[in-house]
Amino acid sequence: MSEVRTTCPYCGTGCGLVASRSAGGTLSLRGDPEHPANRGRLCSKGAALGDTLGLEGRLLHPVVAGRRASWDAALDRVAGGLRATVEQYGPDAVAFYVSGQLLTEDYYVANKLIKGFIGSANIDSNSRLCMASAVAGHKRAFGSDAVPGSYDDLEQADLVVIVGSNLAWCHPVLFQRLRDARRTRGTRVVVVDPRRTPTCEEADLHLPLRPGSDVTLFGGLLLALDARGAIDAEYVGARTEGLTAALAAARAAAATASDVAHACGLVAADVERFYAWFAATPRTLTLFSQGINQSSRGTDQVNAILNCHLATGRVGRPGASPFSLTGQPNAMGGREVGALANQLAAHMDFAPADRARVAAFWDAPRLAAGPGLKAVELFDAVARRQVRAVWIMATNPLVSLPDAERVRQALARCDLVVLSDCVADTDTAAVADVLLPAQAWGEKEGTVSNSERCISRQRRFVEPPGETRPDWWMVCEVARRLGHGAAFAYDGPAAIFREHARLTALDNGGRRLLDLGALADLDGPAYAALEPLRWPWPAGAAAAGRLFADGPFPAADGRARFVAVAPLAPAAAGAPGQLVLNTGRIRDQWHTMTRTGRSARLAAHCGEPYVQLHPDDAARAHVADGTLARVGNRRSELLARVVVDRGQRPGSLFVPMHWSDRFAARGRVNALVAPRTDPHSGQPAFKHDTASLTPFECAWHGLLLCRRDLALDGADYWVRSRAGRAWRYDLAGAEPPAAWPAWSRARLCADQAPVEWIEYEDRGRRGYRAARLVDGQLESCLFVEPEPIDHNSDWLVALFAAGRLTDAQRAALLGGRPPSGAAPSGKVVCSCFGVGEAQIVRAIAERGLADVAALGTALQAGTGCGSCLPELHRLLRETARVAA
Ligand code: SF4
Repeated sequence: MSEVRTTCPYCGTGCGLVASRSAGGTLSLRGDPEHPANRGRLCSKGAALGDTLGLEGRLLHPVVAGRRASWDAALDRVAGGLRATVEQYGPDAVAFYVSGQLLTEDYYVANKLIKGFIGSANIDSNSRLCMASAVAGHKRAFGSDAVPGSYDDLEQADLVVIVGSNLAWCHPVLFQRLRDARRTRGTRVVVVDPRRTPTCEEADLHLPLRPGSDVTLFGGLLLALDARGAIDAEYVGARTEGLTAALAAARAAAATASDVAHACGLVAADVERFYAWFAATPRTLTLFSQGINQSSRGTDQVNAILNCHLATGRVGRPGASPFSLTGQPNAMGGREVGALANQLAAHMDFAPADRARVAAFWDAPRLAAGPGLKAVELFDAVARRQVRAVWIMATNPLVSLPDAERVRQALARCDLVVLSDCVADTDTAAVADVLLPAQAWGEKEGTVSNSERCISRQRRFVEPPGETRPDWWMVCEVARRLGHGAAFAYDGPAAIFREHARLTALDNGGRRLLDLGALADLDGPAYAALEPLRWPWPAGAAAAGRLFADGPFPAADGRARFVAVAPLAPAAAGAPGQLVLNTGRIRDQWHTMTRTGRSARLAAHCGEPYVQLHPDDAARAHVADGTLARVGNRRSELLARVVVDRGQRPGSLFVPMHWSDRFAARGRVNALVAPRTDPHSGQPAFKHDTASLTPFECAWHGLLLCRRDLALDGADYWVRSRAGRAWRYDLAGAEPPAAWPAWSRARLCADQAPVEWIEYEDRGRRGYRAARLVDGQLESCLFVEPEPIDHNSDWLVALFAAGRLTDAQRAALLGGRPPSGAAPSGKVVCSCFGVGEAQIVRAIAERGLADVAALGTALQAGTGCGSCLPELHRLLRETARVAA
């Protein structure tokens, strides 16, 4: 058995994994018990990583202008295009749009090439979409972009405040750590979120505040701390500046808890309780994430939180700190190398001394003079044809950026679009001139940094397929073709990491917090064996733990700053019928589904885009749970399944951000989001747009399963998801086709292979069923009904795994119901053991199960990764309520 220790490629928790290959060649993955982030735990996405390692959909060779090309031809095309663009329009006509999925070494060389050798600072990362406001807030308050706390604070805090984060779904392993601490320590939990999310299952208090009113809530908290004598005067006097102005700004907004409650749409007693708990609990940890950052006032919201921690001296102390949770596996690594348009490198900006230091270190012929274009500005510049050549690395901006349709139009008109990615058919790949095949997770080597500043290795445990190459190699090859080979002559990622570490330590002397001097001479074997470590780690000193508990802040005068922040005007839904549109993640999908979309067990948790709304809003809009609705505004429109949920704040909608044109006919919610950004951070406001909702009247509903991936047309609504050995398509349309037999044969029999075709049509009911068999095995099947189809397809999925179908199975296909009459298991809740919601509800009701332990014993539900535990608690509660 050989073992390789590596790091998860999904969220910013940064869990360690162990990949093992048995003597027979079987690969297995498990949580690394020695990694400090997860100590052996994994969430449902991490546990399903093995499902995503296949080659289906991979980009395996370079493509130029839609045709397979050699690496030389593709790299020549990229280098030639960049050179011609610079010569004709200047260096600022070139841009790189990179990603928190890249490794630190990839990030480093991309940043070095464009800022040091092309001469443009137009490099920005999709991390701009997730944590730029936290960066700006940290710099304003602490003088440096550094997260003071540690994951260990989860076990050491007495009060944990979770703001704008569905921790249970977006950072599930941290949620598991918190849940365990709660069991042993009795940790109190307050959730501040307009929605009642699964995270609230562990909350002692949920504050469903009005969207955009966080500054008022935390300004009120600052005043309450003052009124209750909870301000640490000694700490404030010795180590901070600006409290008086911050208090005055808070007072002008809402002087009392009752004012705050009114402005935030909360119950005054709940606000008072939160303030009292915060004031009385020295070990208070505040976790915040996208609900705070993704706002047009995100930086002020961050500083409103940091103000309360500075006032109480709860910064970087055990169990007491503000804590920004990063979304991506290496968002922090991008911040470290400076692969953001407003930074230069290694936590240095564009001050003359920084520029001189970096130019000399890189021996850079034309270092960028000042900040470049941030993500939204960058694609605006593409639309204006100010940027003429863009290299996109490991990201899918046609789905993830706001005003995504405008981004598509901008890229379609751009002179040169290069995309390096490991997936062949993303929405962005469709508009790229050059596709460069990148190595994927498990194939590449490098480092990532998680939310707590912990640097971990990603290591190779499978051989890279086809002609795939590391991202750093592609950048260096283009640099060589541009005449800069000497500056990019690395023999591997270890050499790049050493150079990055040397730059962090260069002329540092404690002036910059990021210092990896102790790693500047790491040789190949030491890099290969590198254990997780937290920065800073200056030469001759110990690696860091928490920051700022003692000693000065990294500002010139050693003091942290309070920021006087004014609240936003209360969120309004705009015109009549308009609702506040909030977007976010779901438990079992990651970003634009290019990896997680390949896993059947992850798709089983939530296979369709949905719109969640309060029952009152559903009644007003005349939509029912489980039907389809249009969600639209002047920018775009999507179709989604309606989920009616009392936990959704009245007047608001929630739509997940994952679905792209590859997975749904009209599912891209970011096409509806306006490109409004925070003035300090440039981070877009994904949480607070407006949209209206109307029913989508369907004349027919369909369910199609096929072993092949089909390009579907002729349906207003289709959603594609993995289901066992088949692809599943949920379909619907406003008008049925003229004849179902012709429609279905045209789509299912297009490959002309010899087939056996069985079908049944009920013209009176407008129902139709058809199946295509090859060598007696089920190859595809289609069910059409005038009413929504029961979406449980377990029995159909099982038929795809069967051999030759029996007469009973054929009859079941034509009858449209399972041969055994087995009760449906419903939407999967426990991904590890494939346990469905209907199955769980039946077990609770029929066997009188009272808690998750009993559910675990009866069905195994919740006994694997634990990501489903909040949903199990909800089902127990709701089933008991129905029974009562
Ligand atoms: Fe990966 Fe899940 Fe850990 Fe995040 S919490 S790093 S997705 S295993």
